[in-house]
Amino acid sequence: MTDRQLALFTAGDGDAETRPDRVGHASVTYRGAGSILTRASGFIGDYDFTLNPYSGCTFACTYCYAAFFVRDRALQDSWGDWVQVKDNALEMLRRMRTPLAGKRIYMSSVTDPYQPVERQLRLVRDLLEALIPQQPRLVVQTRSPLVTRDIDLYRRFSHVRINMTVTTDSERVRRAFEPHCPSTRARLSAIRQVTDAGLPTCVTMTPLLPVEDPAAFARALRDTGVRRFVVQPFHVEKGRFVAGTRDQAKQIVDEMGWDHEAYERAVDALRRHLPHLDEGRAGFAPD
Ligand code: SF4
Repeated sequence: MTDRQLALFTAGDGDAETRPDRVGHASVTYRGAGSILTRASGFIGDYDFTLNPYSGCTFACTYCYAAFFVRDRALQDSWGDWVQVKDNALEMLRRMRTPLAGKRIYMSSVTDPYQPVERQLRLVRDLLEALIPQQPRLVVQTRSPLVTRDIDLYRRFSHVRINMTVTTDSERVRRAFEPHCPSTRARLSAIRQVTDAGLPTCVTMTPLLPVEDPAAFARALRDTGVRRFVVQPFHVEKGRFVAGTRDQAKQIVDEMGWDHEAYERAVDALRRHLPHLDEGRAGFAPD
């Protein structure tokens, strides 16, 4: 464990420097987790493992399906207002006996690894440093410009892809569905930096929210240099593998008149302007 990590995880509760107990609107708690790598299944069953350094996510998207995987009803209801740090994550990763060379790891499936608390904790950065000697095939899913901080580490992986979630061209729409998330402009700028650094990238429009000008949106997406795109509608049904969209988001969707036909029209327009647009699970497959 690095000196910085030791400081992080042995300091007293509420030490604002190393163990913040709040970040923005949300509470931060620390707990030991039973595992750091989980066998992948369902929608991302093409991977070997998922890696979630945190439980909960303070980006608090109104449509977040991950809320349904929380067993505690109170935590489910307050999704977005809390994050739990897996403070033994690095230790668990280092102690794993399973060889990870060539294994396909998806980070993260039920949290955003680069949510705001990561800026102080740098837990993801420590995990990446621990993974580099093992050289797994890594796909990182985020909507945070903070991912650019770790470009130097990603360049040391032989197989890595950064997926940036971008859901709409409209800040009005983005604020309605994702009030605590980075702006679309910031996300596009970040994925451009990652692409310019020579790393494989993808923009995931998952879910695609109401789009004001699909052609201009497609141009802005292409201008990032990214050449791989994925689109997906809301999951409106609760199913065996896919949890349903939250009621708050369904209400906004109805208010904005974003139905299946509107989604299909927008996808058709995007398809005309983007070089490679997958839909659904196929777009998330590892390379
Ligand atoms: S960033 Fe992802 S995990 Fe976090 S609240 Fe939004 S959809 Fe959920």
